[in-house]
Amino acid sequence: MKLIDSHCHVHFNAYKEDMDEVIQKTLDEGVFMITVGTQKDTSKHGLEVAERYEGMWATVGLHPNHTVEQEFWDDDELSPDEQATPKIKTRAEAFDMAYYRELVRHPKCVGIGETGLDYYRIPEGVDKETVMKNQEATVRAQFDLATEADLPVVIHCRDAYAEQAMLIQEYLDAGKLSRRGVIHCFTGTREEAQRFLDQGFYISFSGIVTFSKALQEVAKTIPLEKLLIETDAPYLTPVPDRGKRNEPWRVKFVAEKIAELKGVTVEEVAEATVKNTQSIFQLDQK
Ligand SMILES: [Zn+2]
Repeated sequence: MKLIDSHCHVHFNAYKEDMDEVIQKTLDEGVFMITVGTQKDTSKHGLEVAERYEGMWATVGLHPNHTVEQEFWDDDELSPDEQATPKIKTRAEAFDMAYYRELVRHPKCVGIGETGLDYYRIPEGVDKETVMKNQEATVRAQFDLATEADLPVVIHCRDAYAEQAMLIQEYLDAGKLSRRGVIHCFTGTREEAQRFLDQGFYISFSGIVTFSKALQEVAKTIPLEKLLIETDAPYLTPVPDRGKRNEPWRVKFVAEKIAELKGVTVEEVAEATVKNTQSIFQLDQK
């Protein structure tokens, strides 16, 4: 393995026609991957795909955007006709503890998530307070399951870093979430990152780091020992392929950008991020 994409959704419908080809191309390039569930059906399906490939693992969870019905474009930087994937339409789902408790027993399940607080994507015309409360309850249930199953969590957070850190702290103070986890697709400030680092979490950068100047400044300051890289494919395609459907092998562009920003070699970034991802998700035991 040369690189690992710590967060993609290569089992999603965006790859309905060519999923196996995309996975094989990725593995042929020496890139391993963790494919991430976002609701009941995608969590189950991710495990089914991962069990067919060496070099692929899955996580299971309920994404905050799926706790309320809504429609949105994934990539805020692009206009509708530049978007590489269709508009995302979500169904509202409640966290089904018994269902997920069964999924975590699967040998390829390496974590819980993505789960977290997203105050950015709350649709118009719904009661904000209710959505926020519902998100919090969903996160709590998944933190409980992660604790019970002794798994790390994959956190999706937008416009709610302070609230997210407080919730994590409450669990840590209670001796829970001992496997910690990762703040996926981090887009916050240096100070917000530090709070999560102090809590023992890792910070993961997606393709956004290839084009966001503000994020590049933050990435420079995150120690390599605490850093992960990801694509979030099919979304958030990095430079130089903006506007195309993303694929997990493109994590190499994220690695190259991190290397440039930190003034180290791509090999050093690859080695560190592979080691970090293996250690969080205990991939050698799966
Ligand atoms: Zn994702």
